[in-house]
Amino acid sequence: MGYQKTIKNPISCSGIGLHSGGKVRLTLKPAPIGAGIIFRRVDLPDHPAIPARIENLINVNYATSLCLGDVQIQTVEHLMAAFAGLGVDNIVVELDAAEVPIMDGSAAPFIYLLHEAGIEVQSQTRYYLRIKKSIKVGDDDKFAMLSPANEFRISYNLDFNHHLLKNQRASLVCSEEVFTNKLARARTFGFLDEVMELRKNGLAKGGSLDNAVVIGRYNILNEGLRFSEEFVYHKIVDSIGDLYLLGYPLLGHLMAHKAGHSLHSELTRQIVKQPDKWELVSGVAYRAQLQQQKRFTVYPQLQRANALFQRRAVV
Ligand SMILES: [Zn+2]
Repeated sequence: MGYQKTIKNPISCSGIGLHSGGKVRLTLKPAPIGAGIIFRRVDLPDHPAIPARIENLINVNYATSLCLGDVQIQTVEHLMAAFAGLGVDNIVVELDAAEVPIMDGSAAPFIYLLHEAGIEVQSQTRYYLRIKKSIKVGDDDKFAMLSPANEFRISYNLDFNHHLLKNQRASLVCSEEVFTNKLARARTFGFLDEVMELRKNGLAKGGSLDNAVVIGRYNILNEGLRFSEEFVYHKIVDSIGDLYLLGYPLLGHLMAHKAGHSLHSELTRQIVKQPDKWELVSGVAYRAQLQQQKRFTVYPQLQRANALFQRRAVV
């Protein structure tokens, strides 16, 4: 928390697009203070740019995609989650196709790439979007809600009509450490029937057991899960990536029940539409304020502990 960040050096990787099945080269480049996250299609004339912001979001059924004019970029969510996870504010993402490579279906390869490029702290404070009043979308069965909190916390509950995906919950504070060590390696998942249907419609051509956990009627087709919370952790990764289209990191508690890309995006749109329910706070000022609060709350505890110790010493 504090200052804006970019990367120290450009870095590239190659992979395949989940839906197109074609090869994609991705290059990350440093960007100046205040630039935000900018996607650029280098395979098109004049290399058109699309800022990664909610107003450019389209088509959120199976992946989060951006569109500006007639230029599109699909499946941005895991890369966006990696930027949010490491607190990267300003960066240029160059692609030579219409899709971010799926890599292994998780955010971990992008975290590796960002660490290899090196994180550069810039000289300007970053601004956080702090939730002051709750905002909810959905209904009693499926919903996503943001409530006030001093940090970015996510409590996610998934519940599919499948014995492997019944009522899984996780609640955690999305710090850089938690994202890198717990969330980043959780892979995307899909049902075998759904994958067959997508293929029939010309989608998921690049999908395989190398980049997704595929769930059959009785068991998963892969060798195993990376950890028992992999499904719910992946939903959390998706929500972090989708919400980062706000253009600011969040201070609030996301509670999601049976949600997905479309509810995450609807929530993001509602936040933009209801500016009376949030405020922008300077990261540097907010950190100082929290430290001061901590001092005030820790001090009476110390006094009590001291008093107790002295009483014991007298006895
Ligand atoms: Zn995903």
